[in-house]
Amino acid sequence: MFNTSTIELSKGALKSNYSYIQKVIGKNVKLSTVVKGNAYGHGIEPFVKLSQVCGINHFSVYSADEALRVLTVARKHTDIMIMGWIDDAEIDWAIKKQIQFYVFDLERLRKTISISKRLKIPARIHIELETGMNRTGFSERNIGKLVELIKQNKENLIIEGICTHYAGAESISNYVRVHNQFEKFEKMFMELKRKGIVPKYKHSASSAAAMTYPEMRMDLVRIGILCYGFWPSPETFIDHLTKKHLFEKDPLKRVLKWTSIVMSTKTVKMGEFIGYGNHYLAERKTRIAVIPIGYAHGFSRSLSNNGKVLIKGRFAPVIGLVNMNLIIVDITNLKGVRRGDQVVIIGKQGKNEISVASFMQMVNQLNYELLSRLPESIPRIVTK
Ligand SMILES: *Cc1c(COP(=O)(O)O)cnc(C)c1O
Repeated sequence: MFNTSTIELSKGALKSNYSYIQKVIGKNVKLSTVVKGNAYGHGIEPFVKLSQVCGINHFSVYSADEALRVLTVARKHTDIMIMGWIDDAEIDWAIKKQIQFYVFDLERLRKTISISKRLKIPARIHIELETGMNRTGFSERNIGKLVELIKQNKENLIIEGICTHYAGAESISNYVRVHNQFEKFEKMFMELKRKGIVPKYKHSASSAAAMTYPEMRMDLVRIGILCYGFWPSPETFIDHLTKKHLFEKDPLKRVLKWTSIVMSTKTVKMGEFIGYGNHYLAERKTRIAVIPIGYAHGFSRSLSNNGKVLIKGRFAPVIGLVNMNLIIVDITNLKGVRRGDQVVIIGKQGKNEISVASFMQMVNQLNYELLSRLPESIPRIVTK
């Protein structure tokens, strides 16, 4: 109600993805579900709740605002880890709420220690190491100072993790760089260990590394895209199928389905233009349906005269321009379409499916980008 489209989240699909991922990584590796970017567009709140029903109690986010959203719906004692940005006021809040966060330089470490001292509560931190991504993290020359500060302030810090992030484990073309990172991480980790700094979790892998390189799983994996039923890249998918002898059957299931409804239908005479300007000429008597979603809802303008949707289990092509709030589709070949009929924009209907991947190829966006851009205002509902 009060919306022109809906995003459905399939509990069955999610459950199945989690059990598959856990089976691959092994039961001794902790699975942290990455829910940044509004849970890759699935909606943080419903997605976290659903994940908890599936047994997940560790979540990774990028920033404090996302951590707050997880905290609001999560069960008690759920681990929440901020992998990215957190400002000084937020460090205060995070320590009070026992939210974990990455510490990636000495300034941040000093700040954390001083806030922890003032609050008299230890901070739960993950020490991020720079291993070659060249983004954030302590480099080798900081290790001495890092160890000194940790040892001087033992009661203010709980070392939840020592971690790093790879610069593109989803592509074999990065193999050398990623492997060098892995080796550097091992070396720096050993040095910290020798000096008495031992974390609860040693972690480095996101979806691609966790699937492709077993040695990178360590104690915990930070998995985003796979939980939602997508692969980080076709390469990762094919590599996995080959190693597991799965022969083209995707073991993951898409969690998300995006639907709308037919708003109205009509017949247009041959020779008329349809919609704005002269982007589509009816070359025959054409039956059309109007769907109340447009580029304001994430249905890209580049799908003009190009995209498709599913109605009654069959494909209906978009004709003319994608408008801000609506699209027009050709239903000449579809019998019996009525106002109020369900329209699938992403997902299955009958025997056919519009995958994010096909949608993505049409609009030339990555899975990651398209998903995380799905507007927050679209209601998310949970289905079986
Ligand atoms: C986004 C992110 C992940 C998860 O990546 P996926 O490819 O979606 O599994 C893991 N670690 C960090 C640091 C990230 O930013």
